[in-house]
Amino acid sequence: MAMIIDGKAMAMGIRKEVAEKVADLKKTTGVEPKLMVVLIGEDPASTIYVKNKEKACKETGINAETIRFPAEIKEEEVVAAVKEINRQKETHGILVQLPIPKHISEEKIIEAISPEKDVDGLHPNNLGRLLKGGLPWFVSCTPMGIMEMVLSTGVEIKGKEAVVVGRSNMVGKPTALLLLARHATVTICHSRTTDLKEVCKRADILVGAVGKPELIKGDWIKKGAVVIDVGINRSEKGLVGDVDFKQAKEVAGYISPVPGGVGPMTIAMLLKNTLTSAARSAGYHLE
Ligand code: NAD
Repeated sequence: MAMIIDGKAMAMGIRKEVAEKVADLKKTTGVEPKLMVVLIGEDPASTIYVKNKEKACKETGINAETIRFPAEIKEEEVVAAVKEINRQKETHGILVQLPIPKHISEEKIIEAISPEKDVDGLHPNNLGRLLKGGLPWFVSCTPMGIMEMVLSTGVEIKGKEAVVVGRSNMVGKPTALLLLARHATVTICHSRTTDLKEVCKRADILVGAVGKPELIKGDWIKKGAVVIDVGINRSEKGLVGDVDFKQAKEVAGYISPVPGGVGPMTIAMLLKNTLTSAARSAGYHLE
C-alpha cells in the first residue's frame, strides 16, 4: 500500500514559511510583494483558479490584483497592458491566466511579459535557461511543486527511470527537464506514444500530466514507484486525476492524490516565486 504524498499539508507548510518571509521582507525593506493577474474572458474554471490565487496571496501578505478583460479584447491591447505592468515598480509578478481566447496569440502575450516578472516561468527566456541547465529567473509553478513532492519522498532521483506523460510547455516539458537536471533517465510520452502502458511500467518515477480521467491504471505502474498525478478532470465521480488512484495505490510506493496533491503545491510555488521576485528587487537575501 502506497504512502500518500499529502500536497495539501506540504503546501500549508510552505505557505506558512512564505508568510513569515513576506512579513520580514516588509519589515526590513518596506517592500510588499505584489502579483498582477491578467484574466481574459469569463471561463468558469479560470475564474475560480484566479480567485483561489488571490485568496492565497492575501493570506500570505502578498498584494494581489486582477486585471479583467472581456473575451473580445484585441491582442494589441493585452500586449500593451502587460508591457505597462512590466514598468510598474511595485509589481513583482505577472501571471496571465490560461487558456486565453483563440483570437489572441498565447505566445505573443507570454513574450510580452518581462522574464524577470514571469512568475509562471513560461517566457522563452526562462524556458530556454531551464533547457540549457542554467538558472532561469523562474520555473513554472506546477513542475516546481511536482519536484518538491518527489523530493519529499526521500527516493533518490539520480540514475532512476522517470516517465512523464504529457508534453505541454507548462507541465510536461519543464518537469522532464527538472528530472533530467537531477540525473534521472527521462522519457516523455504524449498522445502519439505507442504502447504507453509498457513505457509507464518502466518508471521508478511516473508523472501523469495528460488531462484524461484515470488513464493510468494500476497494472501500468512498477511496484514501489513514485507516482505524481497532475491531472484535474471533472468526471461523474467528481474530481479525478490522470491516475486510477484506487488501483495505483496498491502498487505504488508513493502516490499523490487528486484533489489535495499537485493543485495546492502549484499555488504554494506561485507564492514562493512572487516572494522571490520581490526579494530580488529589494536586494533582500531569502536564505
Ligand atoms: P495539455 O492539454 O496542454 O497537455 C496534455 C498532454 O497530454 C499533451 O502533451 C498530449 O500529447 C498528452 N496526451 C493527451 N492524450 C494523451 C493520451 N491518451 N496518452 C498520452 N498522452 C496524451 O495539458 P496540461 O496543461 O499539461 O495539463 C495536463 C493536466 O494537468 C490537465 O488535467 C490539467 O488540468 C492539469 N493541470 C493541473 C495543474 C495543477 O495545479 N494541479 C496545473 C496545470 C495543469
